[in-house]
Amino acid sequence: MSANHLINSELLGYFKKGFESDPLMTVSEWADNFRVLPSESSSEPGQYRTDRMPYLEEIAYELSPQSSTDEVTVIKGTQLGFTELGNNMLFCYADLYPCPMLQILPTESAVRTHSNDKLWPSIKSSPRLKNTFREKKTKDGSSITSLVFKGGSIALGWSNSAATFASMSRRVVICDDVDRWPDEIEGGEPLDLAKNRAEAFPNNKKIYVNSSPGKKHNSKVLPKYETSSQGLYTMKCPHCGEDVVFEKDGFKFNYDENYQLIDDVVFVCSNNGCIIEEHQKYEMMKKENGARYVHKFPERKHKGYRVPSYYSPFAKWNEIFQLFLDARKEQKQKKENTKMSGWTNTKDANVWEEKIEKLDVKEFLTRHEDYAADVPNGAFILTAGVDTQDDRLECEVVGWGKYGESWSIGTFILDGDPKYPNVWQKLDKVLQSTYKHESGIDMKIMGMGIDSAGHRTEYVYGYCKSRIEQNVFCLKGDTAVETPILKSNVSKASNGTLRLYMIGVNSAKDVIHGHLTTKEVGPGYMHFPRKPEYNEDYFKQLTAEKKDKTTGRWSKFRTRNEKLDLRVYNMAALKILENQYYPNGLDWEVVEAEFNARVEEEINTVAQIVEEVEEHNSFSDWRDMY
Ligand SMILES: [Zn+2]
Repeated sequence: MSANHLINSELLGYFKKGFESDPLMTVSEWADNFRVLPSESSSEPGQYRTDRMPYLEEIAYELSPQSSTDEVTVIKGTQLGFTELGNNMLFCYADLYPCPMLQILPTESAVRTHSNDKLWPSIKSSPRLKNTFREKKTKDGSSITSLVFKGGSIALGWSNSAATFASMSRRVVICDDVDRWPDEIEGGEPLDLAKNRAEAFPNNKKIYVNSSPGKKHNSKVLPKYETSSQGLYTMKCPHCGEDVVFEKDGFKFNYDENYQLIDDVVFVCSNNGCIIEEHQKYEMMKKENGARYVHKFPERKHKGYRVPSYYSPFAKWNEIFQLFLDARKEQKQKKENTKMSGWTNTKDANVWEEKIEKLDVKEFLTRHEDYAADVPNGAFILTAGVDTQDDRLECEVVGWGKYGESWSIGTFILDGDPKYPNVWQKLDKVLQSTYKHESGIDMKIMGMGIDSAGHRTEYVYGYCKSRIEQNVFCLKGDTAVETPILKSNVSKASNGTLRLYMIGVNSAKDVIHGHLTTKEVGPGYMHFPRKPEYNEDYFKQLTAEKKDKTTGRWSKFRTRNEKLDLRVYNMAALKILENQYYPNGLDWEVVEAEFNARVEEEINTVAQIVEEVEEHNSFSDWRDMY
């Protein structure tokens, strides 16, 4: 070993030591030196390395005290390491720049999981932090929601509690997953309230807002991002050297008829059509190879970044695009956007915007069909929906086939005040009727949903209570936009003797709108019989509402909308039946097989009787011949 080398390594040690205690470290420098990821919550435990995720470095710098930026907004996909970035920020400040901090997550349970499974194991696994934080269960010590250190603390709060926003001033405020926050709480919009927490630190505050986006109409992170510098991670194409940014439309992949990938996903350079394979992305993303953020508005002080999952060292392009194909399959086969909206939000890091098509009443009037029986082939389950008015009940019977395809069977207007038994007796007749299926078997209504809103609630309860065995369900509409078609927890009514099913009317109308816009026969298509009640007035009522894109709520623009409500109650009845008979999820292939087995059994029994009779007849015929 040369003397020169000795001096160098000594010097290096000296500088390293000096550097380690340098209070001017940025968040990523601190993490690269001191952060040890715990094995219980990390896919890659051990020493933290920013160079694994080069796209985080600039953001980490802007979150550091060295940057004069006081606001950073990130729209992100999943599996990109942003959770650990937030943790690095908290720990770096606690260690080197102690101050009061606040981290807000969507819910209390998210806070508890984050504190117990992420923060505390991280503190225990990083030697540098072991003595920084006061232990839990000591006097003036830390707790799940307050991590105390010399010179400050990290308070953890949740977005749906006013108490979170009423605490003391904080220099650092981290707002996590804001598109899962409520639109409003007592006192105002939670994101504004969170910002107010840092007002007492005008010169050195840091507000860090991040989220995977949600729906466009009520996204909180999107409007923030739009007022920011809007940075995208831009790299040099390894073939032609021109700038490329990973966006969905640049990816190329092939798949078979069952929506399965048949080769590796590649990225096509937008400049010269060069083919970039995934293994090349790690070199491309390095700073020394020319990768950096390009900001649309570099002069803006508020720094913003959008990072989709394509950059992730943890999620592979093949996995990401197989999920995309699964979502595409659901769209094609079930006419549903649940998976695609989720994929767009969490992988493509984009808001999801629903398309609201204008519906043409005249077009529906050309769609009447001549059914070969009361219930045509393809429908396996019958439901009924009932709307309660002060002077009548309105009812529609619907047949359900695979993946949302449906057949209107008939509507009934039953006159009479629901205060009196007469009108309910008429409803009993509908409930007990048999409907002839095209296969020849008789069908009955499997479930009936009755709306309990209005002035006749007690009478609805009374009717439903005595017909629980016949699957008569008592429904109550819930107008919150995020409520699913059927809320999982059931309320009790009528002194706890009746189950009250809460129905997300906006979610149901979203799905019905999708079905109404389906023009080809198959999943989601709505069939209507050539019957006098399916007239212009029926279709006007069915299409009487429009969606407010800002609030996500449906409201009527025509006076009457009962026929749309009837569809909502039918859909709710079907959902309740699904939960009751298929708790692990309804498989339409199974439903069809069961239905066909039933048809075969019943028709065979009938055929056997006919055969016996015919045999007897033919015997007589034979006798007659002689
Ligand atoms: Zn190229």
